[in-house]
Amino acid sequence: MRSKLVAGNWKMHGRRDMAADLLSALAPHLPSGVDVAVCVPFPYLDQAGAALVGSALHLGAQDVSECDDGAFTGEVSAGMLRDMGCRYVIVGHSERRARHGESSQCVADKAATALRNGLTPIVCVGETKEERLAGQTESVVSEQLAPVLALGAERVERLVIAYEPIWAIGTGLSATVDEADAVHSAIRGALGRVSQAAADRVQILYGGSVKPETAPALFAADDIDGGLIGGAALDPEAFLAICKAA
Ligand code: PEP
Repeated sequence: MRSKLVAGNWKMHGRRDMAADLLSALAPHLPSGVDVAVCVPFPYLDQAGAALVGSALHLGAQDVSECDDGAFTGEVSAGMLRDMGCRYVIVGHSERRARHGESSQCVADKAATALRNGLTPIVCVGETKEERLAGQTESVVSEQLAPVLALGAERVERLVIAYEPIWAIGTGLSATVDEADAVHSAIRGALGRVSQAAADRVQILYGGSVKPETAPALFAADDIDGGLIGGAALDPEAFLAICKAA
């Protein structure tokens, strides 16, 4: 039986005070029976790591270098993230694929580096509106996942995958339960071709305009194991309501 996971992605929002306020509004009120994480901007990870010592709220980052420590100006290593107290790291968010040209192979390399350093990568995949309208959703997602699944059963079994249709991110227009669940089932099928344990264990999150009103139905679907939450993660009341729905 897989547990549910709700991860907030703060993106490039906030300042030191907002981070402190948000963490203190969330940490004491987490519902039991669901894993909850916040993926905080790099500059505030140290502050958040210190604030969350002893808390059930897990810390995550929003990206990581595929390289280990070395001469890589501007990059942040997985070892550094571990040192800050991170448990999770988002890799392959569509905003990074689009703005920074990250290929699916690069995303798989980041996932491998994260795993090697004891982090759990949250690997994001998802199609554009044009690709969905052209009936290419499953083939796009499958191409994005191919180098990740090629990491092999032992590593794949330790991943989290987030299906995030690009047309649903930050638009207020969530995928319907049926639309999301169909892609989640296809991803589960692909995991099953790697190993039965991967299909059984890997949490597949849905992301894209999840709100307290839409979360309960989404999270009730068999293959939806929680959510990756952007905008609503900045509002503690909304984020906690989404966590409770899981
Ligand atoms: C995201 O960017 O990961 C996301 C899901 O954003 P939103 O919830 O704002 O659509």
